[in-house]
Amino acid sequence: MVDLRRIGVCLALCGVPMAGSAAAPAVAVDVGHSLDAPGAMSARGRSEFEFNRDLALAIGRAMNARGVAARMIGVDGKENGLGARPAKARGAEFFLSVHHDSVQPHFLQSWVHEGRERRYSDRYAGFSLFVSRRNATLRASLRCASRLGEELRLAGFRPSLYHADPIPGEMKPFADRANGVHYYDNLAVLKGAASPAVLLEAGVIVNRDEELMLGEARERMAAAVAAGLARCLDSLRAGRR
Ligand SMILES: [Zn+2]
Repeated sequence: MVDLRRIGVCLALCGVPMAGSAAAPAVAVDVGHSLDAPGAMSARGRSEFEFNRDLALAIGRAMNARGVAARMIGVDGKENGLGARPAKARGAEFFLSVHHDSVQPHFLQSWVHEGRERRYSDRYAGFSLFVSRRNATLRASLRCASRLGEELRLAGFRPSLYHADPIPGEMKPFADRANGVHYYDNLAVLKGAASPAVLLEAGVIVNRDEELMLGEARERMAAAVAAGLARCLDSLRAGRR
């Protein structure tokens, strides 16, 4: 018989993937930013936190559908400290932090959307993935990041690649260029995680077309991320055998 607690099935009406029990292996899915510090602002004035929360919940549901518990962190928007996030993930087999991207401020321009002036840049688009060389399990983190990138590419998404550009604020060297994976050593949520850990920038929300695409393709992206996470967990478990 299937143990519902172990697989973290989302029961009727909840809409939010259930947290795995403390003992259950799980993927920790971290919603980047908070209500008080909502991160980037999209070309149409929607906060990064809202994009992160919606995609993280969709990833949690897609993981649940695969029979894997998703431990959600920061869904209520009240998680303000970066250090607390890895602590809340303790016991999970893998830590994924979900974000959406912007660009360096000097690339932003103004436009008027629905009567309000907003900032945008259509210069870059695409996802990117980050691992920290200060995480204790770098090799496993990198392997999982590459698998996430592969599955996103298979689903039709493209890596952004601009974070490696030789300009101030970028210069994040490639760890796996083909799959859009960079090193970003000092990211607190990555270096502080006890498990393999990856940060996903799902797409560039200051890009006017990409903002719309990210809303329309959310479930497809979540399914691709879940497929990558499933492959990641398989490889982690095989490595422990
Ligand atoms: Zn962010």
